[in-house]
Amino acid sequence: DQLADACRALDHARAQGGTGPVWAEDLPEEERRRAPQTGINEVARVPGDRLTMVSQVFNFFERSHDVDSIMAVLLPKLGRHYQAAHIVLTAADADFYTVRPAYAWHAEDAGAPEGEAALTRLDEKKFAAGLRAFGDGVCPVGPRMDPDARLLLGAPKEGEGFALPMYDGGAYIGAALFARGAGQPPWTEEEQGELQEIAKIIETNLNRERYDSASRAKTEFLSRMSHEIRTPMNAIIGMTLIARQSKDDAAAVEDCLEKIEHSSQYLLGILNDILDMSKIESGKMTLERVDFDLETLARGAAALFAAQVREKGVTLTTDLRLPRPWVKGDPLHLNQILVNLLGNAVKFTPAGGRVTLRVHQQGEGRRFAFSVADTGVGIGEESRERVFRAFEQAEASTTRNYGGTGLGLSISSSLVRMMGGALQLDSEVGKGSDFHFELELPQGRPAAPAQKAPPAADFTGKRVLLVEDNELNTEIAKTLLEMYGLAVDTAADGQQAVRAFESNRPGWYDLILMDIRMPVMDGLEATKVIRHMDRPDAATVPIIAMTANVFDDDTQKSIESGMNGHLAKPIDLNVLLETLRGVLAT
Ligand code: ADP
Repeated sequence: DQLADACRALDHARAQGGTGPVWAEDLPEEERRRAPQTGINEVARVPGDRLTMVSQVFNFFERSHDVDSIMAVLLPKLGRHYQAAHIVLTAADADFYTVRPAYAWHAEDAGAPEGEAALTRLDEKKFAAGLRAFGDGVCPVGPRMDPDARLLLGAPKEGEGFALPMYDGGAYIGAALFARGAGQPPWTEEEQGELQEIAKIIETNLNRERYDSASRAKTEFLSRMSHEIRTPMNAIIGMTLIARQSKDDAAAVEDCLEKIEHSSQYLLGILNDILDMSKIESGKMTLERVDFDLETLARGAAALFAAQVREKGVTLTTDLRLPRPWVKGDPLHLNQILVNLLGNAVKFTPAGGRVTLRVHQQGEGRRFAFSVADTGVGIGEESRERVFRAFEQAEASTTRNYGGTGLGLSISSSLVRMMGGALQLDSEVGKGSDFHFELELPQGRPAAPAQKAPPAADFTGKRVLLVEDNELNTEIAKTLLEMYGLAVDTAADGQQAVRAFESNRPGWYDLILMDIRMPVMDGLEATKVIRHMDRPDAATVPIIAMTANVFDDDTQKSIESGMNGHLAKPIDLNVLLETLRGVLAT
């Protein structure tokens, strides 16, 4: 309402022959009484000597949260009051070394500098050098200023003044620049102090606006998420119904099961993305450092898409130049990055297009250049930074056409950063996109070739105690285990597990699979009790945690309590078999 009032006030001012904002205080007494009463006007109605410019600015933001509109009115007012030639507020992104003028005002006779409004891309060095120009907090602006600082501040060629940095929790988000024309006297110390205070108020409010828009993005994310989850959920429920009604048609049932499995995997993917995102945001994501073969990893990532590209009519090629492919790093997360980039590339490339995965070792050094390029729809300049942010997609229509949560790139770019690189994007709308980054990976030692796993697993004669409070989960795990010949006893909580273990002779159980969160006694406690029993197998019986909590500190806690390992729920059959082989091989 205030904004509408302010607009009406502007219209009124224009009707009076004005061109820009007119302030009540500037109107003759008679007209002032006729001018519409607006929140913003009220502030200005108080004579300047009674209400300082600083408190006026403060009131502006108190009265409205629409930063764009406030700036449109505020900057000309400041410019006039302080007889400035230029006021420029830049927005910087320290992750991508970019700067753009977010709000600017120039006196009529000064004019806007050339190329204003453009996004300027600096590199890491120039960005850092520009930041250093702030020294003790103020950067002088003038013809002799540091060229990197000039770039960073979007400073006009003429005019002298100063710029003040703005931060959000320690991170540089941009600057407020105030300059006077050549020949004008510099601002007095008092004026400069006021402008500093004003810049502070603006900084606070820009940050508030950022948080507001972040929370808007989260709300949108939740509604998109529930849609994303509902779609596979519908498939699962629907296909289950169909399967139940087609019991006599084995082929139809098989088809339903396949679709149910596919949708379930997709759901799990979404959940894992959310989990990764929250791990990254809470600083709980940690990276491994193990030896692995980069060539095998890259081929494996590409191979995942073989069927999909064939079906879609897209060509997927790998271009690997890896004279020494053994490196040290985090293969799991590197794979996650490549799979995510490849998945996007395939998703956004129509039939007949091409996707290329390139991994090149730079000379003989330990630097590796990664690139996933496609000839797909491309990403417009205006969305190129946004797509890296959590929950954001290039176009609102993307969800409708392609689905997706907008988390993949944000996760990938965080992971690349944690590995010491920077995920970058070159793209042209309609021509394609190229996501690329470089990593320093120390040389690794080739591991002995993995022993071929026995083709069919058979654990006949082995007995396992399955401890799980959820009936459905118990049924699933019991069925899976029995399929491979295991004898299964079950317990519904830690206390029952302790009793079952106690009441059987030593060596009766070859393995205990233990849920962690259970009523009466949890899995960690039960493990401790068992480990402290006075019997020969108390210390040796393998106990594996089986839990839906996949946060690392839970893994840590289960190890501390005396468990031997950890299986994530939902249970992946291959991982389960692998674990059983490891534990039960005798
Ligand atoms: P999602 O794909 O799940 O929505 P991402 O974070 O992986 O989330 O991608 C964010 C957005 O970036 C996508 O929705 C899409 O608009 C855009 N995008 C990502 N990769 C490409 C690509 N290779 N070509 C065109 N657009 C892409």
